[in-house]
Amino acid sequence: MTAMTESKLRDKIAELGKSLFERGMTAGSSGNISARLDDGWLLTPTNSCLGRLDPARIAKLAPDGQHLSGDPPSKELFLHGAMYEERASAKAIVHLHSTHSVAVSCLPEVDPADVLPPLTAYYVMKIGRLPLVPYYRPGDKALGEAIRGYAAKTHAVLLANHGPIVAGTSLEGAVYAMEELEETAKLYLLLHGRNPRWLSEDQIAELQEAFPS
Ligand SMILES: [Zn+2]
Repeated sequence: MTAMTESKLRDKIAELGKSLFERGMTAGSSGNISARLDDGWLLTPTNSCLGRLDPARIAKLAPDGQHLSGDPPSKELFLHGAMYEERASAKAIVHLHSTHSVAVSCLPEVDPADVLPPLTAYYVMKIGRLPLVPYYRPGDKALGEAIRGYAAKTHAVLLANHGPIVAGTSLEGAVYAMEELEETAKLYLLLHGRNPRWLSEDQIAELQEAFPS
């Protein structure tokens, strides 16, 4: 990858991080964004606020996760590493502590095989299936191993009592899918106690035929 492309990616991570932070999608120093390069990947630094990233200080890592340059990477780097290793198509990963998704991740009644129902066409197209990964304490490497089991089969997972991780074939794609997930979690909570209509199996099949992933 050319230096130009890496520098553009750094700018894009800072721009999208600022946008996510300013819209309240993740608070304080929570959340991290990564993007794959030909010779490794970029990851936002530990204890950094997504709203105030310095593109030049975003960490650069070797393909195996070794820190090469920039500020020390997020402690959650192994979540990204596990996703990249299992999904060759993943070009970028976003992990946020977004309020509504975290709220849903704490509910005992959700189906751990697929947490959110097919409420809208865009959710079905951009996320599709969302498994719940059991809770692990922050920094526990076992979480990375747990994610491996899901990552080959789905580009989005929800960590119990923690938050979502979404991989995309582009940085924008990962961010858009994450936004769709968070909005759907919000709708799900708004509809609590009501009896909403979900998309039917036929409607889902029609979407999958019209917009194959
Ligand atoms: Zn986290």
